[in-house]
Amino acid sequence: MYCKYCKKHTIHEVIIVKPGKRGKLTAGSRRKLWNIEHGYGSTPYPMFEHAKRKVKNVKRYNVIYRCTVCKKAQVQRRGKKAKKVEIIAK
Ligand SMILES: [Zn+2]
Repeated sequence: MYCKYCKKHTIHEVIIVKPGKRGKLTAGSRRKLWNIEHGYGSTPYPMFEHAKRKVKNVKRYNVIYRCTVCKKAQVQRRGKKAKKVEIIAK
């Protein structure tokens, strides 16, 4: 892969960043909790059942490419969407 720091093609190490767990006190999760208890928008009933059903098993994985020459990493954010990610070593 092309390394923008070395300005040439080098061998890169591939690291997959697994999605971390959501924090308990982040703004989003607090809002979600509030929605579960109080309903959302025009739905006055708790949307806990809705929230339960929405389990996605296709996730977007961030991929880090680290140059083996200069050890600098390039992050591909919002990268590939996949059910399962594995590295095939050459
Ligand atoms: Zn490099």
